[in-house]
Amino acid sequence: MSGFPNLRLRRVRRTPGIRAIFDLPFPGPEKFCWPMFVVPGHNKQEPIASMPGQFRWSVDRLAQAVEPVVAQGVGSVLLFGQTDRPKDNGGSGAWDERGPVQEAVRELKRHFPELTVMTDVCLCAYTHHGHCAPLRPDGALDNDAGCACLAKVALSHAAAGADCVAPSAMMDGQIAAIRAALAEEHFDDTLLMAYSTKFASACYGPFREAEGSAPGHVPGMPADRKGYQASYANARNACLESILDETEGADILMVKPALFYLDMIRRVREQTLLPVAAYNVSGEYAMLIATAERGWGDLGDLVRESTMGIVRAGADLIISYWASRYNDFFRR
Ligand SMILES: [Zn+2]
Repeated sequence: MSGFPNLRLRRVRRTPGIRAIFDLPFPGPEKFCWPMFVVPGHNKQEPIASMPGQFRWSVDRLAQAVEPVVAQGVGSVLLFGQTDRPKDNGGSGAWDERGPVQEAVRELKRHFPELTVMTDVCLCAYTHHGHCAPLRPDGALDNDAGCACLAKVALSHAAAGADCVAPSAMMDGQIAAIRAALAEEHFDDTLLMAYSTKFASACYGPFREAEGSAPGHVPGMPADRKGYQASYANARNACLESILDETEGADILMVKPALFYLDMIRRVREQTLLPVAAYNVSGEYAMLIATAERGWGDLGDLVRESTMGIVRAGADLIISYWASRYNDFFRR
């Protein structure tokens, strides 16, 4: 290849028209998934202070919330729930068939039959200690009991009509347990999206405010989830989580967070033929908003550049709070 002056790479970047020929386009809205928070009660649209522009919705307000997002063509939503029932050690409120998430699934499928409805499957918003599995009397995490509880949650979501269940507890064996439970009840068409590589990240703070799901203080138990979520300094172990989830029956593998883990999205992309999802998390959302609010960057430019990073890394599905504003940021 001849170099300069015969080769001048600026030629392919010179005008917007020329750049548009060679640039990767933003994915269509159908590739985006909007995470939503559902709360008990009526007529609620509660702003989330650390996530400007995002809200907690009661089920009766959901259709109104989702309508403009569906109108932009966004393909899916991912539902997170809360309970007003007393919390317990096993998080039994999570598999209440009349719980907010279960009701939300029915409500959305009734109004928007074409919308793909995904549900987060975890216990931490429903356990009194805030961990993602029950605790044994000695305070240790009961992994296998957790898997059994998570299977009940997934079944209750599938029975309500969820297209996809997404366990996020990071318990060993949770995918196998849920796949077996779904098969037993003949939910053969329910997609299973594994939060297979979910890191113990400092970027979940705003989400925990939204969900009220920060782990509490239990004697003998750390007040964080580093004992079960993947370590950001151990990439091989994190990749192994994905390989295992594939063998246990996952349909989609997810990496979470996205922007601090673009190498992991790429790595998982290269080691599987399954679809890969990336979760652009609450802290990553809040970071860009805070930067723009201080006048240190343009929000649209920040959103587009960071989202394209996730696309370039190889994500098929982009789970992002920006999805609710697809037309503002990504529409050509
Ligand atoms: Zn959890």
